[in-house]
Amino acid sequence: MAELSRRKWLQNSLLASSAFIVGGSKMLDAHPQPSFPMHPGESELIRLNWNENPYGPSAKAIQAVNDAVVKANRYPDRMVGELKELLASDYSLTKNHFLITAGSTEILSLLGQQVGLMQGEILTPYPSFPTMLRFGETCGASIRKVNLTKDHRIDLKAVQAALSEETSLIFICNPNNPTSTEVDKQELMSFCKNVPENVLVCVDEAYIEYSQNGVKGSMAPLVKELPNLIICRTFSKAYGLAGLRIGYAISNPDNIIAMAIRHPGWELSTGIAPVAAAMACYNDVDFLKSCVSKNEEGRQIVYNSMDQWEIKYSRSSTNFIYVESARFSKDVITKMRENGILITKWPDMKDHLRISIGRPEEMNSFVEKIEQYVIS
Ligand code: PMP
Repeated sequence: MAELSRRKWLQNSLLASSAFIVGGSKMLDAHPQPSFPMHPGESELIRLNWNENPYGPSAKAIQAVNDAVVKANRYPDRMVGELKELLASDYSLTKNHFLITAGSTEILSLLGQQVGLMQGEILTPYPSFPTMLRFGETCGASIRKVNLTKDHRIDLKAVQAALSEETSLIFICNPNNPTSTEVDKQELMSFCKNVPENVLVCVDEAYIEYSQNGVKGSMAPLVKELPNLIICRTFSKAYGLAGLRIGYAISNPDNIIAMAIRHPGWELSTGIAPVAAAMACYNDVDFLKSCVSKNEEGRQIVYNSMDQWEIKYSRSSTNFIYVESARFSKDVITKMRENGILITKWPDMKDHLRISIGRPEEMNSFVEKIEQYVIS
């Protein structure tokens, strides 16, 4: 269907009727389709645009998927339970503290929708990961954005100061996407403890494995103490399972039930194969370590060139780097694509590019190709 007639159809359809969806046709204007770039010849391109793990899935995960396929006539409920037990044992929590979903996108969107349905407010440092904000806005939430510091860090004091009676949920992405910076563990812990219990705090830890303290920096241990804390984690990044779609929330069991009963997939949206892969790689310490250390190698290649060209960037706690764009030609993203390399910037990321870290050879190719677009 051509784009225009498709839009028209949607606008006139059941989906757009206010009885069906809170945002109605406003949704179509506010949020164009997520851009899934289906470029011809994509498989030959170097993908430095989606923060994927170029080393995954691990051999153990692949084996587990193969072994699990014969059980695909069954719903994944029992395996989901086993995965929860496995995760719970790591934090001395119970399986009732976990919700397993098809990627953490589902948790972020569900929370955004709930705040929207309550006509509530999401308070967030910004720029930050927009999924929850988009779903929230679509469903009627207001979004209050707090600027980052000049060095692109989350300013917890400013977030604290912006907290008001209107605030329903505070979203903290740590390490932050797109800026790649992380906040200090102790500071974030005391911030979380200071938020009133009637305000939810969602900490998105999609990149925590790449951060300075790794998973030891997680806010997960606080879940026992703070009834309003929800942590989002994913197997899409350091575990290399983006295409299998599996993530999870960690929270107080009451919040987990509240989310589970609103989750469109009833916790079955992930499948046998993703759960099997997640269980196989969760304890594969060697695989994780090697992905993290190769990622550091890739980051260093970019740092070296940026330093040499005197281009500013943020020291990254993730598998991507936030680089100032002023010294690159304006059409650098298109030009790099013509060179077979995908990089990105978000529409409201005016002065920066986001470069995902691929394999060292891909990063060597990246710096070699991008050098021709550096303005001296
Ligand atoms: N949070 C952040 C910060 C992300 O960058 C992403 C994916 N890019 C997600 C959540 C969602 O990841 P997934 O749905 O694949 O788990």
